[in-house]
Amino acid sequence: MSSNMLIDKNSPYCPGCGHMNVTLNLAKAIDSLEIDPLDVIVVSDIGCCGLIDPSLASHTIHGLHGRACALASGIALAIDNPNKKIIAIQGDGGATIGIAHLLEAARRNFNLTLIVNNNQIYGMTGGQLSGLSNENFQHENANIEEPLTPFNLIELAKSAGATYGCQLIGKGDFTDYLKKAINNNGFSIVEILEVCPSYGYQKYSEIENLGFKTYEFENKRNPFRLYKNEIKSLINFNESKVYFESNLDKPIKIILAGSAGEGIQSAAELFARAAISCNLNVTKKGDYPITVGTGFSVAELIISPNEIHYTGIEKADVLIAISQNGFDYTKTKIDDNTFVIADSSIQNLISSNKLTFDFQKTFGKKNSAISSLFTLLILKNIFPPEAFENSLHESKHREKFIQLIEKIKSFLSEINHPA
Ligand code: SF4
Repeated sequence: MSSNMLIDKNSPYCPGCGHMNVTLNLAKAIDSLEIDPLDVIVVSDIGCCGLIDPSLASHTIHGLHGRACALASGIALAIDNPNKKIIAIQGDGGATIGIAHLLEAARRNFNLTLIVNNNQIYGMTGGQLSGLSNENFQHENANIEEPLTPFNLIELAKSAGATYGCQLIGKGDFTDYLKKAINNNGFSIVEILEVCPSYGYQKYSEIENLGFKTYEFENKRNPFRLYKNEIKSLINFNESKVYFESNLDKPIKIILAGSAGEGIQSAAELFARAAISCNLNVTKKGDYPITVGTGFSVAELIISPNEIHYTGIEKADVLIAISQNGFDYTKTKIDDNTFVIADSSIQNLISSNKLTFDFQKTFGKKNSAISSLFTLLILKNIFPPEAFENSLHESKHREKFIQLIEKIKSFLSEINHPA
């Protein structure tokens, strides 16, 4: 079989695992519907079935355990295009953990297909029972005397408002059911009863002997859509007027790296606002540990005269390192072409293209980020420093910044910076 969707036909699963037949059926369904894999977004999460990502030619996203349906819902809502096919894949464990997401997706009839690979157990963690393990399986395999009634996902999804649902046994060819689910303009759920030779059923006949049969339902209802005026941006673009001009002719990638409490994120945001006031496109990404009050704090800024389609930075054009934590975290993102502005305290800074100064001692811990960004604007022709000054004047810390700007200007007029 040749497939556009499946680029690697080697199974990543244990020999005989039911997930492989689901993968083959899914690929066949996409191929026979003549859907370009790049119009497909497959969202999986933790569990053996999520191992398939690298084998698919589609876009793939791998999320936290139980959250595939939540991620897929956000994607469906944001993309809002029936020609893009969003397919969430979960195991019975993940579907149980994320059951509220499933019900909400069904209630709102988001335009996506959820495939639940139900092999009765959490395979990746050693065969624990899930909320979908049937009573017989609980009794036979886990010696449970009084088995709990498993969730009936298909009935739950139906009552919540799903518009297509199907429960089937995952042997042979079941692409017709997957095609119906994928073609449905709304929320579809396909629960596939499977074998897991390592911990669950060994043969499909064991599932058939329990009386499971294919069951499906269909309803017609429009998917939930966001009205455009419900989309709220974190930046009020009405306030982002253009005041200054920039001669920047290509994107510049800047990393501002320091520690918690050094105002890294606020300095980067004020810098981003300044760039916007020069009619430039900007992305800002904050990166810090869950413990926001300690450890590194890093902001990645991309500033460009053109639209920015990818917000990641693999190699920085400029690294501004305020303190050791941030430098250690980001030093793999610099090379010989990166211009480094660093506080003199930074250890192990090997770069021939650098400017070091006592930013921390001269301006204080909380002002080093802003003063080094000012320094960058003097050294590199990104946008006028006046734009940054204006951005600081418009912030809520205006009074503090007025004094700081005077100190920075005096400093910059004195230093002999490299050409
Ligand atoms: S543990 Fe079970 S579900 Fe996981 S890959 Fe192996 S057979 Fe498949």
